[in-house]
Amino acid sequence: MNLDALFKISHGLYVTGARDTQDRLIGSCIDAVMVIEASPAQIMISLGKSSFTCENVLISQKLSLSVLPVDTPDDVIRNFGMQSSKTTDKWKNVPYHLYQNLPVLNQASAYMTLVITQRIETATHWVLLCDVQAVEPGSMAPALIYADYQNRKRKENKMTESKKWVCTVCGYVYDGDIPFEELPDDWTCPLCGEPKSVFVQE
Ligand code: FE
Repeated sequence: MNLDALFKISHGLYVTGARDTQDRLIGSCIDAVMVIEASPAQIMISLGKSSFTCENVLISQKLSLSVLPVDTPDDVIRNFGMQSSKTTDKWKNVPYHLYQNLPVLNQASAYMTLVITQRIETATHWVLLCDVQAVEPGSMAPALIYADYQNRKRKENKMTESKKWVCTVCGYVYDGDIPFEELPDDWTCPLCGEPKSVFVQE
């Protein structure tokens, strides 16, 4: 099975915002978001089970979603993707404001708040069906498409020679003893569970 083929199904990149049980602001970078229907507005998202944000969103039952614009700097994606809200206040590193009492990025193309109505458990993720509680246009700039982000990273990485491989979803850096190319096809990112095909050479 060649998982590269799966990534021909395109999607965007998004930042979730939520509050943990201590009322601290938390969040993460996700890619799996789909509008199921517009009226009533329903969205489906998928969160990696191992993420602190996922753990807390399952308790609070609500979260915000910021749609990343095409010119989102890499450090914003890394900020939300490569570290845990358990130990880092990610929101202090970016311009944000509260919307419906949840944090959203000032630079978002659009933003919304979601309330979870149903959930499905998979091996690595929780798939959450959500009602859109409120939604606003942000800059309304074109959204960052995941495939374009990957291509951007590939181009940048061609310009540098390095043996490190980075997960384009969560920023995890693989620098293990086994050469990345020799890892089995079903190897997945230990942080976010995505397949080898989402990794690019740093
Ligand atoms: Fe990852």
